[in-house]
Amino acid sequence: MIGFGQAGGKVVDRFIEFDRQTRGKTVRAAIAVNTAKSDLHGLEHIPQENRVLIGQTRVKGHGVGADNELGAEVAQEDIEEVQAALDGVPVHEVDAFLIVAGLGGGSGSGGAPVLAKHLKRIYSEPVYGLGILPSSEEGGIYTLNAARSFQTFVREVDNLIVFDNDAWRATGESVEGGYAKINDEIVRRLGLLFGAGEVDEGDVVAESVVDSSEIINTLAGGGISTIGYAVDQLGDQKKGGLLSRFSKEADLDEVDETNRITSLVRKATLGRLTLPCEVQGTERALLVVAGPPNRLNRKGIERGRKWLEEQTGSMEIRGGDYPLPKENAVACAVLLSGVNNVPRVKELQQVAIEALENIEDIREQSDRNLAELLADGDEELSPLF
Ligand code: GDP
Repeated sequence: MIGFGQAGGKVVDRFIEFDRQTRGKTVRAAIAVNTAKSDLHGLEHIPQENRVLIGQTRVKGHGVGADNELGAEVAQEDIEEVQAALDGVPVHEVDAFLIVAGLGGGSGSGGAPVLAKHLKRIYSEPVYGLGILPSSEEGGIYTLNAARSFQTFVREVDNLIVFDNDAWRATGESVEGGYAKINDEIVRRLGLLFGAGEVDEGDVVAESVVDSSEIINTLAGGGISTIGYAVDQLGDQKKGGLLSRFSKEADLDEVDETNRITSLVRKATLGRLTLPCEVQGTERALLVVAGPPNRLNRKGIERGRKWLEEQTGSMEIRGGDYPLPKENAVACAVLLSGVNNVPRVKELQQVAIEALENIEDIREQSDRNLAELLADGDEELSPLF
């Protein structure tokens, strides 16, 4: 997992913490790349030796501002420094790369697509992106950066999972407090999804446990992805004392358990997605249901999968469970891959097109202004007057 820029670094840092807290094994190795020294200092969990400061000769550790063209140039020039950090991690043990970046800024926005291209050239493992879109309150330059970076990033990666800050911004909250919550949300969703593929066969009696190849197959084919999530806390199981523990298998009502899962699948899909979009027309999807093994009702998961087939109109819907024996909740994550009807993406494409036209207009205007200025200058300098 590689965090590029400030947002990217913070999300990956939080991911390592989450892995530790949940004894997860999702992050095999983590690297942070940035042009700003202070951002790298602010990280808590990514090992020091895996924090790569690039662009020192150009920006002297002060960052690239929100200049994503400079971010891309610096990444290109110093790609070998990132490669040196990658050489220190056991790449042969990873299933895939995930590059995380905020697309509205400079370093991550410009650098993440450059890094994706490099990784694809060097390694055979899939390269995924997690692109964070800026909130509309941030202003024009952030939207413009995101619009440009998005188009390049989606082309360079095998799949771009998108998180839209705009859909998740809460009013009346400090920016930093808001980001902490948002980052938790990102990590919870991706943690459930990717963690599912890390269950060892010896860990549990595996019935229909999600395999990492199923995640890879769902993401294969490219495009944009979004993730839905829903959770249902179970009641206090200890209440009934010892007796309830012995009888808990028998006590479970099959119909209730099936319904719990089908309703979780609906809530996850129709609730707030990381990138809001039309579910109909999704090319592929993966459904993961996590919780205590006796709650992972097969019929519920199968019905949830069928329901997703109807909603998306796709036949390529995978589903499976993720047994977490110590949990007292059942959670569901739905990965919708290859989504086609996304208003926010259309809006960004429009911004990119307008900006391009604008840039041409501005260039023509400034050429004219310069020509006029030079003509004026000629007049002024003429010794004949
Ligand atoms: P960079 O360091 O130049 O790559 O830029 P940043 O990562 O600081 O900012 C890029 C964009 O990421 C901003 O415009 C915000 O939309 C977003 N952002 C910054 N920090 C966070 C964060 O902690 N979490 C999330 N979700 N988004 C962030």
